[in-house]
Amino acid sequence: MRRGVGTALGETRTAVSARKRYAVAASGRWTDEEDGVRLPAGEVHAWEQGVNQTVCGLSLSRSRLDRFPHVTWTDVIPESGGAADRVRRLCPRCASVAGRRGADARPRWRRTNPRP
Ligand SMILES: [Zn+2]
Repeated sequence: MRRGVGTALGETRTAVSARKRYAVAASGRWTDEEDGVRLPAGEVHAWEQGVNQTVCGLSLSRSRLDRFPHVTWTDVIPESGGAADRVRRLCPRCASVAGRRGADARPRWRRTNPRP
């Protein structure tokens, strides 16, 4: 049996991590011109959908954090994530809970990032 191989656009999700799946909340946002997806920028926190605070306990509204339910925490981790281009800082407290590596440290896909 063949396992799905992730590609930049047609990512297949075969194994679901046992680890809780966190989305992200961030201090900024930008839109990827290629696919028109809203992506996090600036300082990024882990966030659970349906909760009005980050994993480290910041209030989303009071801290003016934007929610990105379509972006997973592993996507914003610089060494493994595909949505990390504009991420300046990962909240260390959230990272200690949600993990500093991609889903089980498995590299998924990497976007080459040409310098402007
Ligand atoms: Zn945090």
